[in-house]
Amino acid sequence: MNNSDTTSPDYEVIVIGAGVAGIYQIKRLADLGVHATVLEADSGLGGTWYNNRYPGARFDSESYTYGYSFSKELLEEWYWKEAFSGQPENLRYLNHVVDKFDLRQYMQFNCRVDAAHWNEEKTLWRLSVCDGRVLTCRFVIMALGLLSIPTLPRLEGMSDFKGRSFHTFDWPHKPLDLSDKKVGIIGTGATAIQVIGEIADKVGDLTVFQRRPNWCAPLNNYEINDAEMDRIHSRYDDIFEICLRTPGGFEHEPDRRGFFEVPREERVAMWDQLYDEPGFGIWLQNFREIFTDEDANAEFSEYIADRIRKRVTDPETAEKLIPRDHGFGVQRVPLETNYLEAYNQTNVHLVDLSDAPLDRVTETGLRTTDAEYDLDVIIYATGFDAMTGAHDRIDIRGVNGQKLRDKWRDRISTCLGVFIHGYPNLMMPNGPQSGSASTNYPRGIETGVNWCMDFLEHAWAHGHNRIEVTAPEEERWTKHVEQMYEVMLMRKAKSWFTGYNSNVEGHEEGTIRYLVYNGGMPKYRKALNDVADAGYKGFIFSGDHKATVDAASASVA
Ligand SMILES: Cc1cc2nc3c(=O)[nH]c(=O)nc-3n(C[C@H](O)[C@H](O)[C@H](O)COP(=O)(O)OP(=O)(O)OC[C@H]3O[C@@H](n4cnc5c(N)ncnc54)[C@H](O)[C@@H]3O)c2cc1C
Repeated sequence: MNNSDTTSPDYEVIVIGAGVAGIYQIKRLADLGVHATVLEADSGLGGTWYNNRYPGARFDSESYTYGYSFSKELLEEWYWKEAFSGQPENLRYLNHVVDKFDLRQYMQFNCRVDAAHWNEEKTLWRLSVCDGRVLTCRFVIMALGLLSIPTLPRLEGMSDFKGRSFHTFDWPHKPLDLSDKKVGIIGTGATAIQVIGEIADKVGDLTVFQRRPNWCAPLNNYEINDAEMDRIHSRYDDIFEICLRTPGGFEHEPDRRGFFEVPREERVAMWDQLYDEPGFGIWLQNFREIFTDEDANAEFSEYIADRIRKRVTDPETAEKLIPRDHGFGVQRVPLETNYLEAYNQTNVHLVDLSDAPLDRVTETGLRTTDAEYDLDVIIYATGFDAMTGAHDRIDIRGVNGQKLRDKWRDRISTCLGVFIHGYPNLMMPNGPQSGSASTNYPRGIETGVNWCMDFLEHAWAHGHNRIEVTAPEEERWTKHVEQMYEVMLMRKAKSWFTGYNSNVEGHEEGTIRYLVYNGGMPKYRKALNDVADAGYKGFIFSGDHKATVDAASASVA
């Protein structure tokens, strides 16, 4: 391996991350014969599905809309077994994809990238890997994941605890018997809602420490037999066409009738039906005003609140599980199985931290400001340093050594969520402010990767070795992203859509960060296409570098 700063880099492209995005990205590069590698911090591929092995971890996308769409053969041969497939199967699927297309040869595991520095003189990136190597490349593609850095609460005494404790992201890979254990779980977000529903009847005792409740809706998962899967195979063209035209990249299409034009009884009948259907229909097949109109949102939230009251036997507990600080659907809605019914079990207890916050972790459990809880196991279901956490952990320096961390400290700015001014030759197929985060991710990921590949092929065809977005073009997109928040109720939510995370310094309340493009996938795709159709107006190209893109020059990591 060449570690020196010659003008001929070690790789034409280095992809960072071997999750859903990195896998498809390297597939496209390999098909073109580009000299490329993937550097992955974990010891295996799969990202989200390699790490989150907690009980109950599964898709909230229909499995068959989540899988890759790029290969008919792959679609035909894969038989999903559940409408919302679980983590072990999802990881098997991603390994199958990688083996089928022989992509493992391009992947290097246990290779965390700690720094990426742009060298203007040589027109290349220098990447420092945790194993001590420095690798150079012309283009770097960051497929780091938007939910790949777990965050622990900022609590005193965490290392004092004598029992077992872990974040859900780091759930032990070996089976864990909790049948006679006193378990405490901190958090009631999307992950906790999945875990609690799954383990409530498998643990000795479960205490849920809730700071703020979240809205949730039933997943209504079901098994898919081979005959049903054959029917899905025959529908794939239609399925992906629908996913292309819906804002969320799902099969669920919003109801385009006006909320207040439909009589109340009809609205309720529709909600009753959606509540019993699988998946995000209750959120995304609903009236569009749910996302924008306070009154419509309040009425629907009250409908869901009543559902909670019906499913939770103890009225006091039910009221504690109803969110008061935000309406339904202003953030990605956790989908659950048996979550609310778990609170009807005598071994499950809800501790409302709004009455008495957590004070500290002790040797034997948790202490709130008014009580002590003895525990054998503490589960931290405390979420992620979402959207920018993985970027912040790499020392990324662009033109004139400017640190990305500093550039993004007060305001996230990108062009299309793909490019950043001052960081030439760095692309993010599904970065912050891209179309992926508010949608069915793989649909956004395929769009992003395809667009990046078109851009790279354009650059290579024209002999450009340096591409950079201009400051005005970046500003145009960033302003647009910010303006989209103004019409959405989600701007009020304390969630990763607004960049809120009390466990990350600087991301506490009052620091709204505009991280998500809210226009939906069709509009996002149009924005990407408009830029390409205009000959990549708003970008500066330079240099006469010709990439070795013919298959003959392909080489492996
Ligand atoms: C529990 C859970 C369930 C989810 N369910 C759904 C769902 O049903 N539908 C949906 O659309 N989305 C879902 N998501 C979102 C999910 O993250 C995406 O669907 C998708 O997996 C993202 O793929 P990715 O490749 O972008 O990121 P990731 O899967 O997060 O992969 C990123 C990879 O980059 C690596 N990496 C990061 N930093 C570095 C570094 N410095 N050096 C080297 N490697 C690095 C990470 O180790 C990781 O392997 C879920 C997320 C979670 C956490």
